[in-house]
Amino acid sequence: MKKSKTTLLIVAAAVIFLAGITGSLFVLFAPKQSAVNIIQDGKTLMTLRLSEEKDRTFVLPYGDSSNTIEIKDGRIRVKDAQCPDKTCVHTGWLSSSAMPIVCLPNHLVISFADSEGEVDAVAE
Ligand SMILES: [Zn+2]
Repeated sequence: MKKSKTTLLIVAAAVIFLAGITGSLFVLFAPKQSAVNIIQDGKTLMTLRLSEEKDRTFVLPYGDSSNTIEIKDGRIRVKDAQCPDKTCVHTGWLSSSAMPIVCLPNHLVISFADSEGEVDAVAE
C-alpha cells in the first residue's frame, strides 16, 4: 500500500512538473504579439511593433528618475531603472499579455497592445 501511494505521489509530481514545462513552452512559443504599448501616467507614449523595431536602447525620463528600455530580437524589457524597487527590471523581457512590465514609482507600464484593460487597472 505504502509503495503504491509513493508511486501515486511521484506520478502526481511528474504531472505537475510536465504541466509547468508545458506552460513555459506555451509562453515561449506563443504566437508573437508584436504591438506593444509604452504607457506613462496613463498616456500612451508610444506603440511599438517589436517585429519591425531595430535593436536599440533608449531612456524614458520621469522627473528625476528614468527607465532604460531595451529592444532586442523583437522583445522588450526594462534594462535599467532609477526607481527604488527595480521590479520593472526584475520582470525581464515582456513575454505575456497577462504580465505587463510595470514600474510603479515611475508610473510606467509596458504591455502588449491587446491588454489595455489590464493596463488601465494597473495604472490607476
Ligand atoms: Zn521600476
